[in-house]
Amino acid sequence: MSASSMSAQFVSYVRRLRCINCDATYAPDKVSYTCPSCGVDEGLLDVEYDMDAVARDFALSDLLDGPQNHWRYGPLLPVTAHHIGAQWPIGWTPLVDSPLLAKLCGVGRLRLKDDSRNASGSFKDRASSIGVVRAAEAGAKAIACASTGNAAVSLAACSAMASMPAYIFVSQRIPEGKLAQLLIYGATVFRVQGTYDDAYRLCASACEAFGWYNRNCAFNPYLVEGKKTGGLEIAEQCMSDPPDWVSMSVGDGCSIAGVAKGLRQMAELELIDWSTRLLGVQAEGVAPIQEAFETGTLGAGEGDTFADSINCPVPRNWKKAVRAVRDSQGAFTSVSDDEIRWAMREVGRLAGIFAEPAAATAVAGVAKAVRDGILNSKSSVVAYISGNGLKDVPAAISASGSPIDIMPELEAVTRVVES
Ligand SMILES: *Cc1c(COP(=O)(O)O)cnc(C)c1O
Ligand SMILES: [Zn+2]
Repeated sequence: MSASSMSAQFVSYVRRLRCINCDATYAPDKVSYTCPSCGVDEGLLDVEYDMDAVARDFALSDLLDGPQNHWRYGPLLPVTAHHIGAQWPIGWTPLVDSPLLAKLCGVGRLRLKDDSRNASGSFKDRASSIGVVRAAEAGAKAIACASTGNAAVSLAACSAMASMPAYIFVSQRIPEGKLAQLLIYGATVFRVQGTYDDAYRLCASACEAFGWYNRNCAFNPYLVEGKKTGGLEIAEQCMSDPPDWVSMSVGDGCSIAGVAKGLRQMAELELIDWSTRLLGVQAEGVAPIQEAFETGTLGAGEGDTFADSINCPVPRNWKKAVRAVRDSQGAFTSVSDDEIRWAMREVGRLAGIFAEPAAATAVAGVAKAVRDGILNSKSSVVAYISGNGLKDVPAAISASGSPIDIMPELEAVTRVVES
């Protein structure tokens, strides 16, 4: 399908926005980001489609010769100007079987959904692409976000591909690799002297003051629709061989809720006839959503983790995440930084995939869930590799150890090889 025929074809199947707090519904053109009666913190909105119309217009055969990126699910996305991003290398990422890793973790089958190969090297490209296309559709002159890293990086990449200025608010702790990506993609980068929460609030004020489009995921109901494509793809790729579980790391909570929605919509369309359980994995030091799942009250998240992408002490999408995991009859677990380092090494060594800490967390969670008795040697699992390890080289070195220093002599090599 050519870009021009796609733009001609696509109409929006979005019918309404529903508040996840009070259940009120709104016409898409009546509210911009959150429920007016519940406010910006509680009133997150969920995008609803005319699924009968989608089912009528969208068939399995469309997928078979659809675009080789996430626009293959066009009717399930809340934009119509797909031609803007038609060429972007985002989505339709490989699903890689790793029998060795399965055995090591103690499950029957383990497949890795490799989103380290997306345009800017993370899962977040799926969301940012929707944000940038929507901003262009709305006639916005610029787009902005606050981020722990990858959301910003992907926004900068998509903005560059769409020739739109991007304003990025990052916290002090952003890894250098991600900072380099932001700057190379040409974004204006504000490094905020404060926490992620400070950066988040400042970005919201700046968007209001300057009329920038706000990409913040927890707040903008459309972004999660892009994240949904991760779930749509897993459903499509596993159509004949469904996994029992999908394991994904959780920071803000938006990603796992998005993947859940994708899986659910494929079932609603009767393109799959199975459901899968979700395993949410947090870092032990910062696991407020696991606590919410177990006790009903959001945890304080007062510890720390080197997995920067999931270091979210004040998660904004925790209700969506808890609901998604609960609805799937899933579970939460958490892993230590050392377990994450172990998973980084093993995913690299056994599957040939270089995962950033928050991505390896999904695999560490599989091994942990076996020890917790949640998974066993019969379980078939997809672990979501959400980001590329090159983004944070010091973290990778802390997991991998050092090279072997030798003199430039064969003898020195022999000593090591034969020892
Ligand atoms: C953002 C991110 C996550 C977690 O997504 P949330 O929506 O914050 O829960 C996991 N891994 C990577 C690499 C990420 O960038
Ligand atoms: Zn509401």
